Amino acid sequence: MTFKRYNPDRINVLSSGGGTQSNAMIVLISQGKLPKPDLIVMVDTEREMSNVFDYQREHILPLCEAMGIEYHIIKKSEYTEHDLTTKNDDERVLPPFFIVNDDTGEISKMPGFCSGKWKTEPFQRHINKLYGEKYATKRGVEVWLGITIDEAQRVKVTGGKWNRVYPLVEMMLTRQMCIQIVEDAGLPTPPRSHCWMCPNRHNNDWADMQANHPEEFAKAVEFEKNLIAKWPQYRVNRSADPLGVQTFVDDGRGTQLDLIQFCDTGMCFT
Ligand code: SF4
Repeated sequence: MTFKRYNPDRINVLSSGGGTQSNAMIVLISQGKLPKPDLIVMVDTEREMSNVFDYQREHILPLCEAMGIEYHIIKKSEYTEHDLTTKNDDERVLPPFFIVNDDTGEISKMPGFCSGKWKTEPFQRHINKLYGEKYATKRGVEVWLGITIDEAQRVKVTGGKWNRVYPLVEMMLTRQMCIQIVEDAGLPTPPRSHCWMCPNRHNNDWADMQANHPEEFAKAVEFEKNLIAKWPQYRVNRSADPLGVQTFVDDGRGTQLDLIQFCDTGMCFT
């Protein structure tokens, strides 16, 4: 076992993004290469790709059941009213959309807060509700995140009640090695996990969605139409052309850079 930071005195919760690295952690648990957490929690942003849930239902939930580990998939709307904007007076826009400057045509990107509001906060509220806030605070929670060494810049040292830990970094695993671990266990290649309207997607992700998931691509097109109707300068894709007029091709770029800059919770794309 190479998970030296494992602390059984605290509550151990694997935060599943539903994607490659989270699935690899669960496979490693089933192989005895990682210890059993107390619980696995995935927050459904209610804009997740449906193939991620199909995969969880068909392959991961039965595995967890066989290991006797509870796996809770919770909907964000059960724990927060924040959606595209915060529900406070400031109505802050949460996803990191692109903005076209009317005068110069320059394209910039907004900071992203959706992962924190849609995932981290509901996750923490669920744990507090389940264990009782006082008990959870007293014992402390180890939040296992599926970051790999190729994304090491996403690692944040936290401590305190919600201490983030990174078993896959300790095991020196890359995302590609995680795919191999899952496939070697006899499971199909895991899908990439992210929202169907996520501005952190790169063109290879859009190309895949346009070709292989047309219903969700159509939802993203409709989503962006409504977005532009309300905020004419906002876009979902970095080219700033509306999604509906584009034919995407795989440009070979990864998503790492945007995730480091615009999504620091470690709960997305894992
Ligand atoms: S996948 Fe993208 S849109 Fe969804 S919560 Fe994460 S950063 Fe936000």
